[in-house]
Amino acid sequence: MIGARNFAPLVAVLLLAACVAPPPPVADLKPGERPDINSDEAGLWMQMDQVEEMLKTSGHVVEDRKLNDYIRSVTCKLSAEYCQHLRLFVVQTPHFNASMAPNGTMQVWTGTLLRAQNEAQLAYILGHEMAHYIRRHSVQKWRSIRRTTDSMAFMGDLAQIVAMTSVLAFSRDHERESDDIGFDLMVKAGYDPAEAPKTWRALLAERDADGEEKDKPSVFFSSHPAVEERVETLDAKAAPLAGQGIVGDKPYVNAVKRHRRAWLKDEMRKRDFAGTQVVLANLAAAGHPAGDIKFFEGELYRLRGDEGDLKEAIVAYRSAIKAKGAPVEVHRSLGLAYWKTRQNKLARKSFSRYLAAAPKAEDRAMIQSYIDQLK
Ligand SMILES: [Zn+2]
Repeated sequence: MIGARNFAPLVAVLLLAACVAPPPPVADLKPGERPDINSDEAGLWMQMDQVEEMLKTSGHVVEDRKLNDYIRSVTCKLSAEYCQHLRLFVVQTPHFNASMAPNGTMQVWTGTLLRAQNEAQLAYILGHEMAHYIRRHSVQKWRSIRRTTDSMAFMGDLAQIVAMTSVLAFSRDHERESDDIGFDLMVKAGYDPAEAPKTWRALLAERDADGEEKDKPSVFFSSHPAVEERVETLDAKAAPLAGQGIVGDKPYVNAVKRHRRAWLKDEMRKRDFAGTQVVLANLAAAGHPAGDIKFFEGELYRLRGDEGDLKEAIVAYRSAIKAKGAPVEVHRSLGLAYWKTRQNKLARKSFSRYLAAAPKAEDRAMIQSYIDQLK
């Protein structure tokens, strides 16, 4: 897993696990290898096969063939032997996360795809997940937890549930190892190593964007190696090689552009406005069309609705219209912002522009009624 989920109730169990002698080392999974049918690992795989079936019909999987093919192609650049044994699922969730199940079910959340700026950053994330699979971290975790829960037999079913849930959250050492292997895989595939720490640095900027949140423990950052530590480690590894290799911003932007608006709408619903401002700035820096990014900046101000935000929204919408790539809805949004600030003449003009640009709009009748009211 690349994001950090909170499993606070399990901390006690994990601490217990640390007191038990470590289990014997586990060899890497060979490409195409399946666990012995009678092993505990086969049991884990079967459970994850069921989870995979549920995921398929969950309605949250992004089916876009081109996008899936693109992510798969990057996975195969990292390892041609292993990629064919992985099943990739793009899951529509506006948070930064990716995960790998022991049976090769890989999830990449759309919040991650929105945040990655280029192919090199995506490669690092995929390499990290692939490392969990190759190193068989799930079964390692399972065995170390079992050694603890066996001694908790008095807890019955609860011990089982705790053990199953914990398997999905890797240990700090496994995360560190996956960071390491993921980095090596992306470098070997010819990507610019300097992009790996940028993934984490952007998350830090997002976390710290809202000063008020700084002291609050965040679910996102509460477990796993501190993000600061991950940045530091990757920076040190990348320094001697930085600037060498492929960044791949154009192919990446091209692969995700059809989904950008839908993912940004999901992102806005989180109402983490300061964080989303960082995301928008990174999208602009990655080469997404300025008109579109400015439009969403305007939407952010209009939704937040703090003092002075409507004025900021108007400025953003107007520069969206001047720049390339703004959706026609920018005229409707600008009209609403003008109306709310009692600039009725300008509001009417913007609404008329919207109807001229989108004559078949579903909300045509409603917008026309606005224009009539404003006369
Ligand atoms: Zn991980």
